[in-house]
Amino acid sequence: MANKDNNSMIILVTGGAGFIGSSLIRFIISSTNHHVVNIDKLTYAGNLESLASVEKNARYSFEQVDICDKYEIENIFNKYQPDIVIHLAAESHVDRSIDSPGDFIQTNIIGTYVLLEKARSYWSGLVGNKKDNFIFHHVSTDEVFGDLEDSIDLFTEDTPYAPSSPYSAAKASSDHLVRAWYRTFGLPTIITNCSNNYGPYQFPEKLIPLIILNALEGKDLPIYGDGSQIRDWLYVDDHARALFHVATTGVVGETYNIGGHNELQNIEVVKNVCHILDELVPSKIDGVNQYEQLIVYVDDRAGHDVRYAIDATKIEKELGWTPLETFSTGIRKTVTWYLENTGWCDRIKDGSYQGERLGLLKS
Ligand code: NAD
Repeated sequence: MANKDNNSMIILVTGGAGFIGSSLIRFIISSTNHHVVNIDKLTYAGNLESLASVEKNARYSFEQVDICDKYEIENIFNKYQPDIVIHLAAESHVDRSIDSPGDFIQTNIIGTYVLLEKARSYWSGLVGNKKDNFIFHHVSTDEVFGDLEDSIDLFTEDTPYAPSSPYSAAKASSDHLVRAWYRTFGLPTIITNCSNNYGPYQFPEKLIPLIILNALEGKDLPIYGDGSQIRDWLYVDDHARALFHVATTGVVGETYNIGGHNELQNIEVVKNVCHILDELVPSKIDGVNQYEQLIVYVDDRAGHDVRYAIDATKIEKELGWTPLETFSTGIRKTVTWYLENTGWCDRIKDGSYQGERLGLLKS
């Protein structure tokens, strides 16, 4: 680790080679003077190419480590002496959690437990300001709150947990562990629960990149059920700014909901992407004048929640964070990024991921 100047901190980010973690690291390196240590196992979802713009920076370090490996995690704490931990490493795809829940239990629950225990023993040995200012910030999802169905309610920080999928149940478990380590051991923790993210560098199995890439190749655009499920969309760089803001100004022991006030049905999101593509790269596919002609409806996901929506009043009022992007500005930036970065997607597709989606096409 290079010499630190007086005000700079060492921020340990887990899962920094993923979609949100890489946005957070690019933000910290480009907009602050802090050091980042990125801990990532590099599963199928981790991609160091997303960090190409920071990899040579003297304030950035990378360690390929599994968060479930308690010896390696202890070494990392001893070696880097972090001031803040921002924990994003997780298995994150709901479809994969239905297909294969074991990895979600392992990383999201056991991995978080290992990090909490190693953070606790490291923090216990600190003294003075370093101990007083230490923060363990756990990054979670609004999916822990379950389904709002057809109510007009919003998720607040007091909404009871009612997760529906193995993914959200594993994330809910990890949130409970974090809360318990604060209440029982006094470990200074903060939790954030965020709505659906979208933006550049998102792995192509998720809805928005999948739709963009399939449309460009003239493939079907698969929509679960009737596409009426509502999600609250937040541009990933807005989330990254929020995470940094909470980790550096949030109140210990608190949780903060993060959301973009952009409730949209999945079908509206897909049509929106199609319209931007119609404008930027008009279809040359035989018989397809508009990309939305490629939409097909597939059997709904098991246990699919109907609606999620976040009340972000607390973080806005108490910490002064608000999103910079609306859905219409963010989605245009996102589509443009995928059009200009086909190499990033091609290299992923050449490897482990071949563009399959786990829904069965309706005949
Ligand atoms: P992602 O799948 O893109 O990235 C996850 C990263 O974690 C990858 O780089 C992967 O290699 C790494 N990882 C997985 N298992 C690991 C292990 N055992 N040890 C070390 N590293 C490991 O996920 P994302 O979309 O960037 O989400 C990041 C976090 O934010 C997750 O905790 C997720 O629950 C939460 N979140 C995501 C969203 C969203 O819309 N994507 C919304 C709210 C909260």
